[in-house]
Amino acid sequence: MKDLYIEGDEIRDEKAPAGPVAERWDKRRFSAKLVNPANRRKLSVIIVGTGLAGASAAATLGEAGYNVKSFCYQDSPRRAHSIAAQGGINAAKNYRNDGDSIYRLFYDTVKGGDFRSRESNVYRLSQVSVEIIDQCVAQGVPFAREYGGLLDNRSFGGVQVSRTFYARGQTGQQLLIGAYQALERQVQAGTVEMNTRHEMLELIVVDGRARGIVARDMVTGEIETHFADAVVLSSGGYGNVFYLSTNAMGCNVTATWRAHRKGAHFANPCYTQIHPTCIPVSGDYQSKLTLMSESLRNDGRIWVPKEAGDKRDPREIPEGERDYYLERIYPAFGNLVPRDIASRAAKNVCDEGRGVGPGGLGVYLDFADAIKRMGRPAVEAKYGNLFDMYQRITGENPYEVPMRIYPAVHYTMGGLWVDYDLQSSIPGLFVTGEANFSDHGANRLGASALMQGLADGYFVLPNTINDYLAAGPFEKVDESSPEVEEAAAAVRARIDKLLSINGDRTVDSFHKELGHIMWDYCGMERSEEGLRKAVERIRELREEFWQNVRVLGTNEELNQSLEKAGRVADFFELAELMCIDAMHRRESCGGHFRAESQTEDGEALRHDDEFAYVAAWEFGGTGEPPVLHKEPLEYEYVEMKQRSYK
Ligand SMILES: Cc1cc2nc3c(=O)[nH]c(=O)nc-3n(C[C@H](O)[C@H](O)[C@H](O)COP(=O)(O)OP(=O)(O)OC[C@H]3O[C@@H](n4cnc5c(N)ncnc54)[C@H](O)[C@@H]3O)c2cc1C
Repeated sequence: MKDLYIEGDEIRDEKAPAGPVAERWDKRRFSAKLVNPANRRKLSVIIVGTGLAGASAAATLGEAGYNVKSFCYQDSPRRAHSIAAQGGINAAKNYRNDGDSIYRLFYDTVKGGDFRSRESNVYRLSQVSVEIIDQCVAQGVPFAREYGGLLDNRSFGGVQVSRTFYARGQTGQQLLIGAYQALERQVQAGTVEMNTRHEMLELIVVDGRARGIVARDMVTGEIETHFADAVVLSSGGYGNVFYLSTNAMGCNVTATWRAHRKGAHFANPCYTQIHPTCIPVSGDYQSKLTLMSESLRNDGRIWVPKEAGDKRDPREIPEGERDYYLERIYPAFGNLVPRDIASRAAKNVCDEGRGVGPGGLGVYLDFADAIKRMGRPAVEAKYGNLFDMYQRITGENPYEVPMRIYPAVHYTMGGLWVDYDLQSSIPGLFVTGEANFSDHGANRLGASALMQGLADGYFVLPNTINDYLAAGPFEKVDESSPEVEEAAAAVRARIDKLLSINGDRTVDSFHKELGHIMWDYCGMERSEEGLRKAVERIRELREEFWQNVRVLGTNEELNQSLEKAGRVADFFELAELMCIDAMHRRESCGGHFRAESQTEDGEALRHDDEFAYVAAWEFGGTGEPPVLHKEPLEYEYVEMKQRSYK
């Protein structure tokens, strides 16, 4: 194993304040240097990404008076993948008076992440959660309300309170419209310059500081350089390394991977979230999977037949012959256990031959009881658009027949390493939202990605980036400096290379094969033997890619084949690091389940004595092994113990 990586020095989060956890965020905000309003006008910030994390940051920094340059690869900032989020956003408002508090959200999140996140960050996230809801309501986000007028709440996995705010099954869309309006207001005011249809392909680092990006105009193919005093990456997650996932088709790792190659540490790349409630794969030509929101587990009951191979219509299987396995194994949380646990349990019953639907890779999510209890109109009001979506995709009516669901890749907890200020290991490079390694440890609880993205963008970054910018404006970047020329030349060379190979295989065929390797060996269950095989196969396939890929068209046009090729090339490199990270972590925690490390009843078994750290990987050079830096995790407030949802 040690042949695959080198062990480097331990690292620490130097920005994390000490003292009582509830006072740390206030303390940091007070100690961070401020920039006075007149000086903000002299400072510039590039923000890559217009999802919830990027749009909220751009709007807030623009409003504060900084000069912001915003980038996205879609034709409108409003098409960022955040728009797909369905279920909701958490906040410790305790509107339900059911025992919730900032401390409980903090506790649930640390425990839900299987004790692999930082206490300071998670506590701050919980504190800020309450401000997010107020901000969004003020923007006009139409959250669901209950009859008394208060905002309504529902529950998500891994918790016993109701703290999830939602806008039917379109929470991400409504939140993004709010952030987009705020962003467009700044575009109108002239503080934000919007660059749509631009893909960042390289980071520019000058004198050790992030000072700009190289971007391709995706319509004309022009390679452009852009400069600023600081760069923020809000470029989302990399779940599409698996080819099939619930992510938007364009989601990719290029922005963060290019920064990684320039010196930014990549943390915990192997922590992937496999979501338990997705529509099962239906055929070999599928390129996208569809999520059925976790909110459905509030009222839907999950079951499989007790007998293996029972092929009866589910409506003909009597109660006594059904196994509501989550309610049976985890009576305290029932159908609302966290995602990692629900996914593994679904895999186990399918491995036992009790799965349903084609190939036996499915379990039922049944609303018959809910319809009986609440009536169909109430179920329609709560989940109608999700039911319609299910029916359109599968041709089955979920009001009459139970839905069939199966786990699928959904979210990546790993990402660029950041300190408490959200600054990466490259000075001047900040990372927000799903793109950073974030606050979720080894498993993210439902409805907390939106919370984290908006916490980062509206509240955290605007209070920490000033500490860095206070030393600016930095010396103007010389466009003919070797760092700038080298970055732009590298982008051009890569594009020329991809277009010149002219081989026999499509980009998609490589991507699909890579996805299969990742799902088989670095998916829901991982083992030393499988991961070793995966690394070998990824290397062989990458080699073939660079000899035999066929990229159609030219650079000087809208060219999706070229866009995909660049992204898949980066996925190859990331995939190898994910497998090495998964192999080196010889414990199970959250979404990372090592076959060799489980309790007697098949639950994830952590080894805190050896692995209570963040794995921050430094790029070792092309063809060279990566360097592992460990950031120890300390728990002062939540006792580290084996997770139990029983
Ligand atoms: C189907 C689905 C449902 C979900 N539901 C929920 C939910 O109910 N609650 C919840 O909390 N979470 C949910 N999530 C997770 C959540 O939606 C995401 O984690 C979150 O929206 C990510 O936001 P982001 O701003 O970090 O990134 P994104 O929204 O992915 O935005 C990324 C941005 O970066 C830009 N970009 C990327 N690379 C480049 C590049 N190289 N150059 C230029 N621009 C670039 C893109 O154009 C885009 O604007 C869901 C996820 C999925 C897939």
